[in-house]
Amino acid sequence: MTEENIKHEQLIIIGGGPAGLTASIYAARQGVNPLVLNGPEPGGQITTTSELENYPGFPEPIGGFELTQKMTQQAQNFNVRLEFESVETVDFSDDKDKFYIKTDMNEYQADAVIITTGAEPRTLGLEKEDKLRGNGVSYCATCDAAFFRDQPVAIVGGGDTALWEATFLAKFASKVYIIHRRDKLRGAKILGNRVKAKENIEILWDTEVKELIGDNKLQAIKVINNKSEKETVMEDVNGLFIAIGHKPRTECLDRFIETDEGGYIITDKHQRTNVDGVYAAGDVQDPDYRQVVVAAGSGAKAAIKASEYIEEHSDNLSETENIPVQPMPKETAKSEAKSSDDKSRDGNLNLTLNID
Ligand code: NDP
Repeated sequence: MTEENIKHEQLIIIGGGPAGLTASIYAARQGVNPLVLNGPEPGGQITTTSELENYPGFPEPIGGFELTQKMTQQAQNFNVRLEFESVETVDFSDDKDKFYIKTDMNEYQADAVIITTGAEPRTLGLEKEDKLRGNGVSYCATCDAAFFRDQPVAIVGGGDTALWEATFLAKFASKVYIIHRRDKLRGAKILGNRVKAKENIEILWDTEVKELIGDNKLQAIKVINNKSEKETVMEDVNGLFIAIGHKPRTECLDRFIETDEGGYIITDKHQRTNVDGVYAAGDVQDPDYRQVVVAAGSGAKAAIKASEYIEEHSDNLSETENIPVQPMPKETAKSEAKSSDDKSRDGNLNLTLNID
């Protein structure tokens, strides 16, 4: 690709989940013109969550997909651009004053970057696991539970995800076995209590999956009790859900961004990475919480800092072709105008209110 074909952007946000979309809304509100590179599928992990009960502002549970749609709509109200392109490589070398990003479709140069690529489910690493994925082996109960209506299923893990997904599966499956490698749950007590209250959920303590049985479709699983070493073939289980945590998505970042031993991007409290001008937010830098509200909050922080960075460096940054300042959606513009009018009538300084 020649230099002329490289597209110039002020701010590129890699990833279009809650962190990326929130960052885009905040950046647009700061007068920056962000481009969100979303990957082939919209929304990130949250779209595989059936219902969120703990996202503030929604007293009734809201579907993960629906919340993403609302966030996307809100971003688009601020003229945020979303492209369904997958980032293949980046060049964040010190010797360049711009950040280079190559996708499957385009090459970009950005003044600042926010990484919100999220995390993907961990696998057990069993033989046939990959082959049987989608054929009895699943990493997303909310996506696949309905395929196992009135059948027994098993779910591996003892964390919040496994517990939450087990109760969800119990609405469809005739029986849900939780296969947990220890004798104590890791997940929240409230979720553990919900699980224990369900008649069709049984926890198999100190148990691990040893083998997946079946060639083109999961037919059964072999489990082992790691204390007694007793092996059992669970012949009735032909749906296995794996919920053993997540792995941050950082492959495309190559060597440029520092990560911890778990692969999570290391950021400071302002979401700054080791590279000046590159920020990270959401699950890709959060080994602890994995909450939508936390991801959104960190996206907001990253956008504020990235916008400040762009502003501070605006003299030497960007011959970016006349980036238009984003117009505010009509309603917001009206209410802001009204607020500042009110203030001037009250005898206060006539400042534009920025309700962030
Ligand atoms: P966690 O890391 O919390 O739990 C992973 C579970 O899988 C643990 O019980 C772990 O066992 C088990 N495990 C890990 N590797 C293996 C393996 N190779 N074989 C068998 N079992 C294994 O991940 P989660 O996805 O559950 O949660 C991650 C974060 O997301 C947490 O902070 C959680 O609070 C949050 N979350 C919150 C939700 C909510 O509604 N509030 C919903 C979902 C997630 P062990 O316990 O022995 O380590």
